Amino acid sequence: MRRVILLVGLLVPVGLAAQSPVAVPPQAIFIKAGRLIDGRADQAQLNMGILIQGDRIKAVGTVAQIQAQATGARVVDLSQMTVLPGLIDTHTHLLLQGDSTSAAYDVQLLYQSTPYRAILAARNARLSLEHGFTAIRDVETEGAMYADVDVKLAVNRGEVPGPRIFASTRAMAPTGMYPILSPNWELELPHGVQPVDGADGARLAVREQVGHGADWIKYYSDRRYYFTTDSILRSWVNFSDDEAKALVDEAHRLGRRVAAHAIGADGIAAALRAGVNSIEHGDGMTDSLMDAMVRQNAFWVPTVTVAHYVADPRGGIWKPMVAYQRAAFARAVKKGVKIVMGTDVGGFPWTGTNQAREFEYYVEYGMTPMQAIKSGTSLAAELLGQQDNIGTIAPGQFADIVAVAGDPLRDITELQRMKFVMKGGTVYLTQ
Ligand SMILES: [Zn+2]
Repeated sequence: MRRVILLVGLLVPVGLAAQSPVAVPPQAIFIKAGRLIDGRADQAQLNMGILIQGDRIKAVGTVAQIQAQATGARVVDLSQMTVLPGLIDTHTHLLLQGDSTSAAYDVQLLYQSTPYRAILAARNARLSLEHGFTAIRDVETEGAMYADVDVKLAVNRGEVPGPRIFASTRAMAPTGMYPILSPNWELELPHGVQPVDGADGARLAVREQVGHGADWIKYYSDRRYYFTTDSILRSWVNFSDDEAKALVDEAHRLGRRVAAHAIGADGIAAALRAGVNSIEHGDGMTDSLMDAMVRQNAFWVPTVTVAHYVADPRGGIWKPMVAYQRAAFARAVKKGVKIVMGTDVGGFPWTGTNQAREFEYYVEYGMTPMQAIKSGTSLAAELLGQQDNIGTIAPGQFADIVAVAGDPLRDITELQRMKFVMKGGTVYLTQ
């Protein structure tokens, strides 16, 4: 009897917490924005107002227009700041803490439990939100199974602070083509991905991952990168065309989009033949591949920050790849390839470089500051199929709103000094 009472006492609050929606402030909020970059317009607007009701934006207009509708609203005065949509990083690894070398990677998979790694992932989610990232696409857990879905659940239930998470779970590569690989065949070592073989195997793996909560499907299109004398960055392709096409087809049939890790021209071409939605890294992008990207409406997520981070410790081809990608990036901007902001944070430690460093690289590489901002707001939302929810400051959108002190159109590094972060109408950072 006593045991039963104890159980009830324990279970009731846990159950309630699990079912209650994320708390939203009941009072309307009136944000005064000194300068507004809404993610859509090509120019900033001065002295604007944003009215928020619950977790959504109700109205956007001049301060005077919004003031008239904002009776009883709590005023958040950002009139000395630049206000932007919450930032979106479309290439992250919450469950990884830097893997510039294989030793750094292996130690996490061999000597850290998934619960330990998930605790760090929750910490990373908070850091990301505090840096102004109100949404991330997390492109695989590197051996931590479905723990990204657990972090997402905890964030969505309001148990821990973090961005909106679009989870990819385990990712896929064929048997023997992804670490950890060891010459000691007597040991079955953990895999950084789900090993997948054959078209039927690919369809099954997609169904398993979707069944366990994958919002996206990620696979590794290539490995073993090398330059040829004609200055093409080439690679070994992982999956047969049959396998890759089955994988993408099954994902699309289940309403999921597909991200392909593809660094060399061969890997990019194979992924585009399979019909993927985004090319990750894409260092070996050629002019004809860029044209194919535009034709197919595929997005390029270049992850420049990680390319710089791993160049020295990895050495070899990883150093010339940086300059090669930089040249390709500038040509792709001119060709109108949809380049979307993604850092590969987790490939570098979450506690080190701010993810917003990526915007600075994009401007150095040939984007205007406004193009860079759109790559990490409205265009990123389009890649996610979330353009009606996030990525812009407009009526009906989630109230995912950030602010910086200066003008990021003059100095893009302002995005690395976040002063105010709101997600879904809740303030997480204010300075
Ligand atoms: Zn990655």
